[in-house]
Amino acid sequence: MSEEKSAKVINLAEYRAKREQEAAQAPIPGWLVWLSCPQCGTVEYTEVRLPEGRYHKCGTLVDEAEVPIDIRAEITISRRNLQLLQEVFESGTASKLLGRLLRSARDNLEQLQQSEETYQNKLLLMAGQDVESYPEEWDPAEAGLRFEVIQPPGLKITEARQPQLHLDNSNEPA
Ligand SMILES: [Zn+2]
Repeated sequence: MSEEKSAKVINLAEYRAKREQEAAQAPIPGWLVWLSCPQCGTVEYTEVRLPEGRYHKCGTLVDEAEVPIDIRAEITISRRNLQLLQEVFESGTASKLLGRLLRSARDNLEQLQQSEETYQNKLLLMAGQDVESYPEEWDPAEAGLRFEVIQPPGLKITEARQPQLHLDNSNEPA
């Protein structure tokens, strides 16, 4: 291969790598649909859009709120949350602490873990493919995301996951 030709090949490989990297760091638009039954007061979310609406098992038409999200951002934050929870379970001090905690607190942590896992599964279903997280240095606050932090252990709950921000309780005065 001539020198000129091999330089071109390298450039193409670099170009492809750059494109791949950009694609892996691009937002993936999606949505989260919050459902609330005005009759039963239940609140849940789904990744399934049904423009014609849907009925709760009690027969009441549910209130729906569709929240636009960046699937990659949501999954990155959720994976970091899960990591944090795993660290809490694994760290020696935490297990000593947990040992002294009431069973309900331990159950609560397990519930948090489960809800992160469920959320990630829904996001992956929505994306229809595996989703790479944003890189380590990606900072959700810098990216303009707003979230609440649950202390301890410091889980970030994005606005998309806070139904009270999206479902409008029309019974209450504005
Ligand atoms: Zn209902």
